[in-house]
Amino acid sequence: MEDCIFCKIIKGEIPAAKVYEDRDTFAFVDIRPASPKGGHTLVMPKKHYELITDISDKDMKELSLTIKKISKALMKYGKGMNIIQNNKKIAGQYVNHVHFHLIPRFPNDGVDIEKWSVNKYKEGEIEKVAEKIKNLLK
Ligand code: AMP
Ligand code: ZN
Repeated sequence: MEDCIFCKIIKGEIPAAKVYEDRDTFAFVDIRPASPKGGHTLVMPKKHYELITDISDKDMKELSLTIKKISKALMKYGKGMNIIQNNKKIAGQYVNHVHFHLIPRFPNDGVDIEKWSVNKYKEGEIEKVAEKIKNLLK
């Protein structure tokens, strides 16, 4: 993808703080970390895919191994870690090259990723939702 900033970073055309690279995957430090202590790292396939649903099974397997590898380092960097992956603008995706955010966590770091507001299902509604998702798996 010609205009993709992450493709340009992967090709070395623009600089980034790279932490890992292998044949199919790439990881670098996010320039705008969620926590003031930093370490927020982006992990992605080298091939340009836009959404998680676009990734080939082979690249997804390789990517999941790299996510685990980087996670092991970040679990030592911080005291815990969140993994976030945004698909489409409505979900907060601004760079259309699929990527996982690995965010190390620290005591009182002010990051509130896990504190989304919660809602309730009406009587019988949760079963209908499960049925709908099961049908969408087909
Ligand atoms: P998303 O909102 O999931 O698309 O996340 C895009 C992320 O890419 C943001 O957290 C940005 O801070 C990060 N980002 C954008 N440009 C760069 C860059 N040149 N180097 C490092 N991280 C970047
Ligand atoms: Zn790209």
